[in-house]
Amino acid sequence: MRQVTCLCESVFDADLPDEIDIDEAPGVMDSILKGDFLAVRCPNCGSLLKPEIRVRLVSKKAALDLVMVPELERMSLYAGKAGIPEGAEALVGYAELFERARILTDGLDPVTVEILKYLMLQKAEEQAPEAEIATAYAGKKDGKLVFHLTGLKEGQVAVLPVEPSTYDKTLADKKRSLGEAPFDKLFKGPYRSIRMLEAEE
Ligand SMILES: [Zn+2]
Repeated sequence: MRQVTCLCESVFDADLPDEIDIDEAPGVMDSILKGDFLAVRCPNCGSLLKPEIRVRLVSKKAALDLVMVPELERMSLYAGKAGIPEGAEALVGYAELFERARILTDGLDPVTVEILKYLMLQKAEEQAPEAEIATAYAGKKDGKLVFHLTGLKEGQVAVLPVEPSTYDKTLADKKRSLGEAPFDKLFKGPYRSIRMLEAEE
């Protein structure tokens, strides 16, 4: 049981798990993609809430061991103090969990996607050095990998399609890339995200 506080100030107990074995609960990926994963309804006002909690997702079949930590713990994660279990990987918040579910459902390699995102960010930052740009994998469309870029223009999302051949090339170069800066340091810890670059700043 976890205590959830609604915007209406009502506080209630919700039956939310600490750990989910995806092999035993195959609907979990769908529910993450649909956006109702861990959603609970406030008994007072009826609002649907997604509490920021820590939850561990494991799957032997998919060789998966993921811990989603709340956004509030991002800084302790950067500092290596978020208490991520040995061998587990960390993600921050529902948006990153959604992105990961898309990547896995589309049969892509998460680290290769991060490398692509890094290359995209480099290009975008050349165009707009002052902007706070973020990028996320959004799914496949017409055979291409679609990425969303935010921060280039206030309130706008830029859609960036990437050819599958670019992905394949990045995947083939992955081993070499991981031995080079910045990836050699970036993906060392449990949070294998290009947002680890913020930790260095
Ligand atoms: Zn409420």
